[in-house]
Amino acid sequence: MSERKVPRERDLPILYFGEKGDRLAEIRLIAKDKPGVFAMLTSFLMEAGVDIKNTYAVVRKKGTVGKIVLFADLTKSRLTIEELREKLEKMDFIAAVEVNAAQDSIVASTEFPIVVEGIRSLVIPTSVLVRFINDVHVTLEENAPAVLMMIGQAFGRSVCDMIRHLLGEVKDPMLFLTIFKNIALAFGWFKIEYEDFDFSRGEGNIIVRDSFEAQRKALTGKGCHLTKGMLTTVLSEATGYDVEVEELECAIEGSPYCLFACKPFL
Ligand SMILES: [Zn+2]
Repeated sequence: MSERKVPRERDLPILYFGEKGDRLAEIRLIAKDKPGVFAMLTSFLMEAGVDIKNTYAVVRKKGTVGKIVLFADLTKSRLTIEELREKLEKMDFIAAVEVNAAQDSIVASTEFPIVVEGIRSLVIPTSVLVRFINDVHVTLEENAPAVLMMIGQAFGRSVCDMIRHLLGEVKDPMLFLTIFKNIALAFGWFKIEYEDFDFSRGEGNIIVRDSFEAQRKALTGKGCHLTKGMLTTVLSEATGYDVEVEELECAIEGSPYCLFACKPFL
């Protein structure tokens, strides 16, 4: 049997375009987190002729309530928006319902602003950020690395705030740095590997693969100073030491990855 692969990229759908005369809607729900909620919801919507185009659900903690957002086409449904809202409201696992009619396009365009773990966030094409970093190098010349590192430290602080928003105070540096690694992946920044790493002191090597910052090949300025600033802040906050970070190899210079040496400043 042939095995079909599912692409690994994370799609962030922005728009779904309906055709003229389509009845598009956004359905927002607060629901209890319990087994079968999605099955009950989708089978009800299917029977009501509601065609789901995109959906996502956020549950912060097992067994609590979560937010479910569905973007759907109601063209073939016999229900009006008001009837749909009333029927959903009567379901015992649903605590709150909102159904909003959308115009010609839906999916994400009705949700604003984007908030990630309590922090307002932006989706910026890498090409824009790379151009910005390049312009900092051109304008500030030898001062550019220090300024970019400061911006990287601000990135790092926002990640630390997110980790605290998720889990409160994290005492275990290994857990803190593993969560950082997963956040960096989820944000599409880069893939991190800790190599011979002493997590309690923040000492050892960090391999950074497929970095957004290393997409600057052939542009002005060397090194990944944003990443360096980010690692400095996150390692220092995770361990409680002032951790120094140095980039030993850089993908901009032709290495297969960026390699950072880290050690506590004692
Ligand atoms: Zn680099």
